[in-house]
Amino acid sequence: MKAMASAEQIQTAAQAIRDGRLVVFPTETVYGLGADAGNEEAVARIFAAKGRPADNPLIVHLESIAWAEAVVDRLPPVAGVLFERFSPGPLTLVLPAHPSLPGIVTAGLDTVAVRIPSHPVARALLASCGRPVAAPSANRSGEPSPTTVGMARASLERGLVSSVGGESGGITYIDGGPCEVGLESTVAAVSGRRVVILRPGSIGADDLQRAVPDAQIADAPSVDRIDRPVSPGLKHGHYRPGATVIAHDPQDESPDRLRSRILRTVPEGRATVGVIGIAPTAVRIAAEIGRAAGRPGNRRPAETNQGLVREAADAREYAHNLYRWFVELDGQGCEAIVAILPPDQGVGRALRDRITRAAGG
Ligand code: AMP
Ligand code: MG
Repeated sequence: MKAMASAEQIQTAAQAIRDGRLVVFPTETVYGLGADAGNEEAVARIFAAKGRPADNPLIVHLESIAWAEAVVDRLPPVAGVLFERFSPGPLTLVLPAHPSLPGIVTAGLDTVAVRIPSHPVARALLASCGRPVAAPSANRSGEPSPTTVGMARASLERGLVSSVGGESGGITYIDGGPCEVGLESTVAAVSGRRVVILRPGSIGADDLQRAVPDAQIADAPSVDRIDRPVSPGLKHGHYRPGATVIAHDPQDESPDRLRSRILRTVPEGRATVGVIGIAPTAVRIAAEIGRAAGRPGNRRPAETNQGLVREAADAREYAHNLYRWFVELDGQGCEAIVAILPPDQGVGRALRDRITRAAGG
């Protein structure tokens, strides 16, 4: 069920953007923390509210492709085709920046990241304020991206000193229910006929290739092979809950080895460990960890129970729930969360990327 914001709430939020203030709003990927992209002081407030490093540029959200000319210098034809095919939707393209765009938005680069979100509340907000909105995810820097308005508020308020009425620290919140995709957008840089995926998301290289058959598409490297960040944001710690995330690949690691790794990671003796993954693997692995723990003569490495296991039916549902599960299991006092890596295909690549980064890899 979607909690839909009223027309009045959207108008109030649009006015806040025009006045140079911040708005938390839903998109189909995660919640965004938005400001008028043309207002340098407003954009500076985003960096302050998030504690975001100044060298990490923002994504500019547009209502339609027609708005691109205000922020993009020249729209390469390949980018036009990709936007036609995938927008509105979870695809961000990195394009030559318009010289008038404040440098704070692009972190001083000569490119700008642009996206046209599909969430009806995001679209209504953009239409109502009538200008491009710069917005990163609505969380304190380094934490998991929020997929509900409650997660956004909890994360941003941890970094606040004061809170006033329905607006907290000058931020207006719009509730649009849980985000459908649950992971950040695919980010791809376009230059001429070359498209390089900088951050994997729910739209993969195969999808892009089908839309532009004669373009050269370079897929995001699989996470185990990332040695040098291609996009500024990728070098910063990301997507981390309070609990230590242990990324487990059932193809590569036996339950016994996983158990030893848990023992090395969490304090000796009893520790509360959550397990998340795709059915039936998560429940099976939780049971194996538990069985190993119960063996006579062994120290008790982990306490897992049904309440601390979360299982999705497939990769899409895993993506939809990942960040919420991180935050929920944190709230249940987990010291570690074993996140089972799905196969490296489709949205599985994006999941592997976010889980590996959350685990500090
Ligand atoms: P967030 O909005 O927090 O999901 O982060 C936006 C992502 O897009 C970060 O990983 C940024 O580094 C990336 N990004 C934004 N603008 C650019 C750009 N001009 N070039 C390369 N990557 C960018
Ligand atoms: Mg973010």
